Amino acid sequence: LADLPAVGIARLPALLRGGVWRYSEWIAVPGAIGERLSMGEGQTALIALDDVSVKLEFVSPTGSFKDRGAVALVASAVARGARELVADSSGNAGSAIAAYAARAGLPCTVFVPEGTSGAKRRQIEGYGAALRVVPGDRMAAAGAAAATVAETGAMYASHVWDPMFLQGTKTFAFECWEQLGRRGPDAVVIPVGNGTLVLGAARGFRELRAAGAIERLPRLIGLQSERCAPLAVAWAQRQPNPAPVAPSQATVAEGIAIPAPARGAQILAAVLESGGCVLSVPEASIAPAQRDLARRGLLVEPTAAVAWAAALMLSERLPAPADDGLWKAAAELCTGTVVVPLCGSGLKSG
Ligand SMILES: *Cc1c(COP(=O)(O)O)cnc(C)c1O
Repeated sequence: LADLPAVGIARLPALLRGGVWRYSEWIAVPGAIGERLSMGEGQTALIALDDVSVKLEFVSPTGSFKDRGAVALVASAVARGARELVADSSGNAGSAIAAYAARAGLPCTVFVPEGTSGAKRRQIEGYGAALRVVPGDRMAAAGAAAATVAETGAMYASHVWDPMFLQGTKTFAFECWEQLGRRGPDAVVIPVGNGTLVLGAARGFRELRAAGAIERLPRLIGLQSERCAPLAVAWAQRQPNPAPVAPSQATVAEGIAIPAPARGAQILAAVLESGGCVLSVPEASIAPAQRDLARRGLLVEPTAAVAWAAALMLSERLPAPADDGLWKAAAELCTGTVVVPLCGSGLKSG
Protein backbone atom coordinates (compact mmCIF):
# COMPACT_ATOMS: atom_id res chain seq x y z
CA LEU A 1 0.00 0.00 0.00
CA ALA A 2 1.49 3.31 -1.07
CA ASP A 3 1.88 6.03 1.53
CA LEU A 4 -0.70 8.78 1.32
CA PRO A 5 0.79 12.14 0.40
CA ALA A 6 1.56 14.23 3.47
CA VAL A 7 -1.25 16.66 4.22
CA GLY A 8 -0.34 19.97 5.80
CA ILE A 9 -1.82 20.59 9.24
CA ALA A 10 -3.27 23.85 7.95
CA ARG A 11 -5.78 21.78 5.98
CA LEU A 12 -7.50 20.59 9.17
CA PRO A 13 -10.86 22.31 9.50
CA ALA A 14 -11.32 24.70 12.42
CA LEU A 15 -12.18 22.77 15.59
CA LEU A 16 -15.92 22.41 16.03
CA ARG A 17 -17.63 22.56 19.37
CA GLY A 18 -18.85 19.20 20.62
CA GLY A 19 -22.36 17.87 20.15
CA VAL A 20 -25.35 20.19 20.11
CA TRP A 21 -23.13 22.92 21.59
CA ARG A 22 -22.00 23.68 18.06
CA TYR A 23 -25.16 25.86 18.26
CA SER A 24 -24.41 27.10 21.75
CA GLU A 25 -25.36 30.69 21.00
CA TRP A 26 -28.84 29.61 19.90
CA ILE A 27 -29.53 27.43 22.97
CA ALA A 28 -31.08 29.08 26.02
CA VAL A 29 -28.98 27.02 28.45
CA PRO A 30 -25.54 27.95 29.83
CA GLY A 31 -23.15 26.66 27.16
CA ALA A 32 -20.21 26.37 29.56
CA ILE A 33 -22.07 23.73 31.58
CA GLY A 34 -23.47 22.09 28.47
CA GLU A 35 -20.10 21.71 26.83
CA ARG A 36 -18.73 20.17 30.01
CA LEU A 37 -21.52 17.56 29.99
CA SER A 38 -21.46 16.95 26.24
CA MET A 39 -20.69 13.48 24.94
CA GLY A 40 -20.87 14.47 21.30
CA GLU A 41 -24.65 14.02 21.05
CA GLY A 42 -26.27 15.00 17.77
CA GLN A 43 -24.17 15.91 14.75
CA THR A 44 -25.60 12.75 13.22
CA ALA A 45 -25.00 11.69 9.65
CA LEU A 46 -27.57 12.41 6.94
CA ILE A 47 -27.35 9.75 4.26
CA ALA A 48 -29.27 8.98 1.07
CA LEU A 49 -31.60 5.99 1.14
CA ASP A 50 -33.66 5.49 -2.02
CA ASP A 51 -35.01 8.91 -2.87
CA VAL A 52 -34.99 10.40 0.64
CA SER A 53 -32.35 11.24 3.25
CA VAL A 54 -32.29 9.44 6.57
CA LYS A 55 -30.71 11.07 9.57
CA LEU A 56 -29.01 8.58 11.85
CA GLU A 57 -30.34 9.79 15.20
CA PHE A 58 -29.70 6.37 16.73
CA VAL A 59 -25.97 7.05 16.49
CA SER A 60 -25.77 9.17 19.61
CA PRO A 61 -24.20 8.37 23.00
CA THR A 62 -27.23 6.54 24.46
CA GLY A 63 -28.66 5.38 21.14
CA SER A 64 -31.46 7.85 20.46
CA PHE A 65 -32.14 11.49 19.60
CA LYS A 66 -33.18 12.05 23.23
CA ASP A 67 -29.53 12.85 23.98
CA ARG A 68 -30.00 16.21 22.25
CA GLY A 69 -32.71 17.17 24.71
CA ALA A 70 -31.22 15.43 27.73
CA VAL A 71 -27.90 17.29 27.60
CA ALA A 72 -29.72 20.63 27.48
CA LEU A 73 -32.18 19.65 30.20
CA VAL A 74 -29.52 18.32 32.58
CA ALA A 75 -27.25 21.33 31.94
CA SER A 76 -30.14 23.61 32.78
CA ALA A 77 -30.91 21.57 35.92
CA VAL A 78 -27.28 21.93 37.04
CA ALA A 79 -27.48 25.69 36.41
CA ARG A 80 -30.66 25.84 38.51
CA GLY A 81 -28.91 24.07 41.41
CA ALA A 82 -30.60 20.66 41.17
CA ARG A 83 -29.27 18.02 43.56
CA GLU A 84 -31.34 15.08 42.43
CA LEU A 85 -33.36 14.29 39.29
CA VAL A 86 -36.56 12.34 38.72
CA ALA A 87 -37.71 11.34 35.24
CA ASP A 88 -40.38 9.18 33.66
CA SER A 89 -40.07 7.57 30.27
CA SER A 90 -40.94 4.62 28.12
CA GLY A 91 -37.21 4.03 27.91
CA ASN A 92 -35.09 6.22 25.68
CA ALA A 93 -35.62 9.55 27.42
CA GLY A 94 -34.97 7.80 30.73
CA SER A 95 -31.72 6.34 29.40
CA ALA A 96 -30.60 9.70 28.06
CA ILE A 97 -31.41 11.59 31.26
CA ALA A 98 -29.82 8.85 33.39
CA ALA A 99 -26.63 9.07 31.32
CA TYR A 100 -26.31 12.85 31.45
CA ALA A 101 -27.27 12.88 35.16
CA ALA A 102 -24.41 10.43 35.73
CA ARG A 103 -22.10 12.69 33.75
CA ALA A 104 -23.20 15.64 35.93
CA GLY A 105 -22.78 13.60 39.13
CA LEU A 106 -26.48 13.91 40.04
CA PRO A 107 -28.46 11.01 41.52
CA CYS A 108 -31.40 10.11 39.28
CA THR A 109 -34.55 8.01 39.57
CA VAL A 110 -36.36 6.88 36.41
CA PHE A 111 -39.94 5.58 36.37
CA VAL A 112 -40.81 3.33 33.43
CA PRO A 113 -44.02 1.49 32.50
CA GLU A 114 -43.96 -2.29 32.81
CA GLY A 115 -43.86 -2.70 29.00
CA THR A 116 -40.36 -1.18 28.74
CA SER A 117 -37.89 -3.56 27.07
CA GLY A 118 -35.31 -5.39 29.14
CA ALA A 119 -32.49 -3.78 27.17
CA LYS A 120 -33.74 -0.28 28.01
CA ARG A 121 -34.17 -1.18 31.69
CA ARG A 122 -30.63 -2.54 31.85
CA GLN A 123 -29.33 0.55 30.11
CA ILE A 124 -30.97 2.91 32.63
CA GLU A 125 -29.64 0.86 35.54
CA GLY A 126 -26.25 0.65 33.89
CA TYR A 127 -25.86 4.41 34.19
CA GLY A 128 -26.44 4.04 37.93
CA ALA A 129 -29.96 5.47 38.03
CA ALA A 130 -32.58 3.98 40.33
CA LEU A 131 -35.09 2.20 38.08
CA ARG A 132 -38.74 2.01 39.20
CA VAL A 133 -41.02 -0.18 37.10
CA VAL A 134 -44.62 1.00 37.38
CA PRO A 135 -47.58 -1.30 36.65
CA GLY A 136 -49.74 0.09 33.85
CA ASP A 137 -48.96 2.36 30.93
CA ARG A 138 -46.79 5.37 30.26
CA MET A 139 -49.28 7.65 32.07
CA ALA A 140 -49.01 5.59 35.25
CA ALA A 141 -45.22 6.07 35.19
CA ALA A 142 -45.68 9.84 34.85
CA GLY A 143 -48.07 9.84 37.83
CA ALA A 144 -45.58 7.93 39.98
CA ALA A 145 -42.78 10.33 39.04
CA ALA A 146 -44.90 13.38 39.89
CA ALA A 147 -45.78 11.88 43.29
CA THR A 148 -42.09 11.28 44.07
CA VAL A 149 -41.19 14.84 43.05
CA ALA A 150 -43.87 16.18 45.39
CA GLU A 151 -42.59 13.98 48.26
CA THR A 152 -38.85 14.41 47.90
CA GLY A 153 -38.31 17.84 46.39
CA ALA A 154 -36.09 16.33 43.66
CA MET A 155 -36.15 18.21 40.35
CA TYR A 156 -38.58 16.84 37.80
CA ALA A 157 -36.39 16.36 34.72
CA SER A 158 -39.34 15.94 32.41
CA HIS A 159 -38.58 15.67 28.72
CA VAL A 160 -42.28 16.29 28.08
CA TRP A 161 -42.82 19.40 30.18
CA ASP A 162 -39.47 21.10 30.58
CA PRO A 163 -38.96 23.55 27.69
CA MET A 164 -35.19 23.11 27.97
CA PHE A 165 -35.50 19.67 26.38
CA LEU A 166 -36.71 21.31 23.16
CA GLN A 167 -33.75 23.69 23.29
CA GLY A 168 -31.70 20.57 22.60
CA THR A 169 -33.97 18.76 20.14
CA LYS A 170 -34.31 21.85 17.97
CA THR A 171 -30.69 21.37 16.86
CA PHE A 172 -32.03 18.55 14.67
CA ALA A 173 -33.42 21.28 12.40
CA PHE A 174 -30.19 23.28 12.38
CA GLU A 175 -28.22 20.19 11.35
CA CYS A 176 -30.65 19.30 8.54
CA TRP A 177 -30.23 22.82 7.20
CA GLU A 178 -26.43 22.70 7.31
CA GLN A 179 -26.20 19.19 5.87
CA LEU A 180 -28.52 19.97 2.98
CA GLY A 181 -26.17 22.75 1.94
CA ARG A 182 -27.84 25.53 3.93
CA ARG A 183 -31.30 24.71 2.70
CA GLY A 184 -34.33 23.45 4.57
CA PRO A 185 -35.93 20.12 3.66
CA ASP A 186 -39.40 20.22 2.05
CA ALA A 187 -40.78 17.59 4.41
CA VAL A 188 -39.70 15.70 7.53
CA VAL A 189 -41.26 12.34 8.44
CA ILE A 190 -41.20 11.93 12.23
CA PRO A 191 -42.57 9.32 14.64
CA VAL A 192 -44.53 11.15 17.33
CA GLY A 193 -45.64 10.26 20.84
CA ASN A 194 -45.06 13.14 23.25
CA GLY A 195 -43.80 15.28 20.39
CA THR A 196 -40.35 16.23 21.65
CA LEU A 197 -38.80 15.82 18.20
CA VAL A 198 -41.76 17.31 16.29
CA LEU A 199 -41.91 20.32 18.62
CA GLY A 200 -38.14 20.71 18.71
CA ALA A 201 -37.87 20.50 14.91
CA ALA A 202 -40.76 22.96 14.53
CA ARG A 203 -39.02 25.38 16.85
CA GLY A 204 -35.68 24.99 15.09
CA PHE A 205 -37.16 25.53 11.63
CA ARG A 206 -39.15 28.54 12.89
CA GLU A 207 -35.92 30.04 14.23
CA LEU A 208 -34.19 29.40 10.91
CA ARG A 209 -37.03 31.19 9.15
CA ALA A 210 -36.86 34.11 11.57
CA ALA A 211 -33.13 34.34 10.86
CA GLY A 212 -33.84 34.49 7.13
CA ALA A 213 -32.10 31.15 6.52
CA ILE A 214 -35.19 29.46 5.04
CA GLU A 215 -38.32 30.88 3.47
CA ARG A 216 -40.85 28.18 4.21
CA LEU A 217 -41.26 25.75 7.09
CA PRO A 218 -40.79 22.13 6.05
CA ARG A 219 -44.00 20.10 6.19
CA LEU A 220 -43.92 17.97 9.33
CA ILE A 221 -45.46 14.54 8.77
CA GLY A 222 -46.10 12.89 12.16
CA LEU A 223 -46.50 9.12 12.44
CA GLN A 224 -48.10 6.97 15.11
CA SER A 225 -48.86 3.27 15.38
CA GLU A 226 -52.50 2.49 14.65
CA ARG A 227 -52.65 0.77 18.04
CA CYS A 228 -52.02 4.02 19.92
CA ALA A 229 -52.84 7.00 17.73
CA PRO A 230 -54.54 9.83 19.65
CA LEU A 231 -52.88 12.48 17.48
CA ALA A 232 -53.64 10.76 14.16
CA VAL A 233 -57.25 10.25 15.21
CA ALA A 234 -57.61 13.91 16.21
CA TRP A 235 -55.98 14.98 12.93
CA ALA A 236 -58.35 12.85 10.85
CA GLN A 237 -61.34 14.33 12.73
CA ARG A 238 -59.95 17.86 12.55
CA GLN A 239 -59.99 18.16 16.33
CA PRO A 240 -57.46 20.63 17.76
CA ASN A 241 -57.33 18.70 21.05
CA PRO A 242 -56.61 14.96 20.98
CA ALA A 243 -58.88 12.80 23.13
CA PRO A 244 -57.06 10.14 25.16
CA VAL A 245 -57.20 6.69 23.64
CA ALA A 246 -57.12 3.36 25.42
CA PRO A 247 -54.44 1.28 23.73
CA SER A 248 -56.37 -1.88 22.90
CA GLN A 249 -53.33 -4.03 22.19
CA ALA A 250 -49.69 -3.33 22.82
CA THR A 251 -47.76 -1.96 19.84
CA VAL A 252 -44.16 -2.87 19.03
CA ALA A 253 -43.61 0.91 18.76
CA GLU A 254 -43.36 1.24 22.54
CA GLY A 255 -41.49 4.56 22.28
CA ILE A 256 -44.53 6.36 20.85
CA ALA A 257 -47.30 4.54 22.74
CA ILE A 258 -48.58 7.68 24.48
CA PRO A 259 -52.39 7.43 24.93
CA ALA A 260 -52.79 11.02 26.20
CA PRO A 261 -49.91 13.25 25.02
CA ALA A 262 -49.59 16.18 27.42
CA ARG A 263 -48.75 18.64 24.65
CA GLY A 264 -51.16 17.15 22.14
CA ALA A 265 -52.81 20.42 21.11
CA GLN A 266 -49.44 22.09 20.67
CA ILE A 267 -48.17 19.22 18.49
CA LEU A 268 -51.25 19.37 16.24
CA ALA A 269 -50.90 23.15 15.95
CA ALA A 270 -47.22 22.86 14.95
CA VAL A 271 -48.05 20.26 12.30
CA LEU A 272 -50.89 22.43 10.98
CA GLU A 273 -48.66 25.51 10.84
CA SER A 274 -46.08 23.55 8.83
CA GLY A 275 -48.62 22.37 6.27
CA GLY A 276 -48.03 18.71 7.23
CA CYS A 277 -50.26 16.03 8.70
CA VAL A 278 -50.41 13.17 11.23
CA LEU A 279 -51.02 9.60 10.09
CA SER A 280 -51.25 6.23 11.73
CA VAL A 281 -49.19 3.35 10.41
CA PRO A 282 -50.56 -0.21 10.25
CA GLU A 283 -48.93 -2.30 12.96
CA ALA A 284 -48.16 -5.02 10.41
CA SER A 285 -45.94 -2.70 8.35
CA ILE A 286 -43.55 -1.85 11.20
CA ALA A 287 -41.59 -5.12 11.35
CA PRO A 288 -41.06 -5.30 7.54
CA ALA A 289 -39.81 -1.70 7.55
CA GLN A 290 -37.43 -2.50 10.42
CA ARG A 291 -36.15 -5.54 8.51
CA ASP A 292 -35.73 -3.52 5.31
CA LEU A 293 -33.51 -1.02 7.13
CA ALA A 294 -31.48 -3.73 8.85
CA ARG A 295 -30.84 -5.45 5.50
CA ARG A 296 -29.29 -2.19 4.39
CA GLY A 297 -27.06 -1.89 7.43
CA LEU A 298 -29.28 0.28 9.62
CA LEU A 299 -30.31 -1.52 12.82
CA VAL A 300 -33.09 0.49 14.45
CA GLU A 301 -35.73 -0.27 17.06
CA PRO A 302 -39.36 -0.82 16.01
CA THR A 303 -40.45 2.69 17.06
CA ALA A 304 -37.86 4.17 14.71
CA ALA A 305 -39.05 1.90 11.91
CA VAL A 306 -42.51 3.50 12.04
CA ALA A 307 -41.15 6.51 10.16
CA TRP A 308 -39.52 4.28 7.56
CA ALA A 309 -42.74 2.27 7.14
CA ALA A 310 -44.48 5.54 6.36
CA ALA A 311 -41.76 6.64 3.95
CA LEU A 312 -42.13 3.32 2.10
CA MET A 313 -45.91 3.69 1.95
CA LEU A 314 -45.78 7.33 0.89
CA SER A 315 -43.56 6.37 -2.05
CA GLU A 316 -45.70 3.27 -2.77
CA ARG A 317 -42.97 0.76 -2.02
CA LEU A 318 -45.20 -0.72 0.71
CA PRO A 319 -48.99 -0.76 0.22
CA ALA A 320 -50.73 2.08 2.05
CA PRO A 321 -54.04 1.34 3.77
CA ALA A 322 -56.58 0.92 0.95
CA ASP A 323 -59.22 3.64 0.44
CA ASP A 324 -57.43 5.95 2.76
CA GLY A 325 -57.60 9.45 1.32
CA LEU A 326 -55.30 10.71 4.06
CA TRP A 327 -52.40 8.68 2.71
CA LYS A 328 -52.99 9.91 -0.83
CA ALA A 329 -53.02 13.51 0.38
CA ALA A 330 -49.90 12.91 2.46
CA ALA A 331 -48.01 11.50 -0.55
CA GLU A 332 -48.43 14.90 -2.21
CA LEU A 333 -47.02 16.60 0.88
CA CYS A 334 -44.04 14.27 0.98
CA THR A 335 -42.25 15.43 -2.16
CA GLY A 336 -39.02 17.29 -2.86
CA THR A 337 -36.24 16.99 -0.31
CA VAL A 338 -37.49 14.63 2.40
CA VAL A 339 -35.67 13.84 5.66
CA VAL A 340 -36.56 10.80 7.77
CA PRO A 341 -34.94 10.64 11.22
CA LEU A 342 -34.12 7.11 12.40
CA CYS A 343 -34.68 7.79 16.07
CA GLY A 344 -33.54 4.83 18.15
CA SER A 345 -31.02 1.98 18.04
CA GLY A 346 -31.96 -1.62 17.35
CA LEU A 347 -29.57 -2.70 20.09
CA LYS A 348 -32.16 -1.50 22.61
CA SER A 349 -35.12 -3.59 21.54
CA GLY A 350 -34.20 -6.95 23.06
C1 LIG B 1 -38.86 9.34 22.01
C2 LIG B 1 -38.87 8.59 20.74
C3 LIG B 1 -39.76 8.89 19.70
C4 LIG B 1 -40.83 9.91 19.76
O1 LIG B 1 -40.55 11.03 20.46
P1 LIG B 1 -41.67 11.84 21.21
O2 LIG B 1 -40.99 12.89 21.91
O3 LIG B 1 -42.36 10.91 22.17
O4 LIG B 1 -42.64 12.31 20.17
C5 LIG B 1 -39.63 8.18 18.53
N1 LIG B 1 -38.74 7.22 18.39
C6 LIG B 1 -37.88 6.89 19.36
C7 LIG B 1 -36.91 5.79 19.12
C8 LIG B 1 -37.91 7.57 20.57
O5 LIG B 1 -37.06 7.23 21.53
